[in-house]
Amino acid sequence: MHAQGEVARLKEREQLFSSLLVSVNAVLWAFDWETQQMIYVSPAYERIFGRSVGLLLADYNEWRDSIYPDDLDYADRSLAEVLDKGSVEDREYRIISADGQIRWLSDKCFVSHQVDAGQRVIVVGIAEDITEKKHLEGELQRLATTDVLTQSSNRRHFFECAHREFEQSRLNDTPMAFLLLDIDDFKMINDTYGHQEGDHVLQRIAETGRAVLRRGDLFGRIGGEEFAAVFPGCAPDMAMQIAERLQREIQRLSFNHNGKSYGVTVSQGLTSIQPQDEMLDSLFSRSDAAMYQAKRQGKNQIVPA
Ligand code: GH3
Ligand code: MG
Ligand code: MG
Repeated sequence: MHAQGEVARLKEREQLFSSLLVSVNAVLWAFDWETQQMIYVSPAYERIFGRSVGLLLADYNEWRDSIYPDDLDYADRSLAEVLDKGSVEDREYRIISADGQIRWLSDKCFVSHQVDAGQRVIVVGIAEDITEKKHLEGELQRLATTDVLTQSSNRRHFFECAHREFEQSRLNDTPMAFLLLDIDDFKMINDTYGHQEGDHVLQRIAETGRAVLRRGDLFGRIGGEEFAAVFPGCAPDMAMQIAERLQREIQRLSFNHNGKSYGVTVSQGLTSIQPQDEMLDSLFSRSDAAMYQAKRQGKNQIVPA
């Protein structure tokens, strides 16, 4: 027997384990389903939750109390699912740590039957702090969907959302309007005042668009100096009022370049969903034709179609 050596080896392993558990940015936990008690939780709990391990071991509600109220239901339900499924690996919810910060957790869990303890159901889990990953995902999503210059939706994202609204409108038989807007003689603005000034005009027009639109409306830059909007649930006369307001607000903008002031106008084509419209494209091409008619008729106007 080399009891001495064995003990030393175990001690070493224990030290290795605890240093691993301290350094990993995830909480390992074990939960007794019958008694609804936490039976083990790793040290990272105190760092991520800002609460004491001792209190959690005494009362599982310590963990539940940290959960963001809107997510508590989901956290409870998805934990209970582990009994049927054996594992639930896509649980993500928010907690409010003791210092008031909202953190995102990925909290995977697995059933581990403990045979020698008379088939008690033990659920084990690993709760990882994914706050930073969530923020990065959000930032990536923002970059992928917005136009850098104007901070409006880009063409792809605008049409993705517009398609969704179109389907909803057809499904629920609710009205929907589609608007195209093109800046008049924009090339002249670039040629007269420079490309940078042109960029500034685009930004101000996008701001005005966002200010005039209502919550739930879509607005995007779909081309160089072309914008589009969708008004879900909006009847044609109401859509016309919004377009008129947009027309007015843009005309009221005043620009200054090297002491010279100037204004801009836009041409708009406006249409509404019809019973025979099977695709968003029908609305898009109608409003496009209407917009070009506005150009032919002398610009600075709205043409309904
Ligand atoms: P119309 O009234 O018929 O619409 O005439 P327009 O001059 O506005 O239209 P045209 O299509 O001839 O010119 C659009 C110009 O928009 C040409 C292009 O250089 C400019 N443009 C496109 N994208 C940008 C951009 O991101 N920044 C700037 N400054 N100009 C842009
Ligand atoms: Mg154009
Ligand atoms: Mg133009």
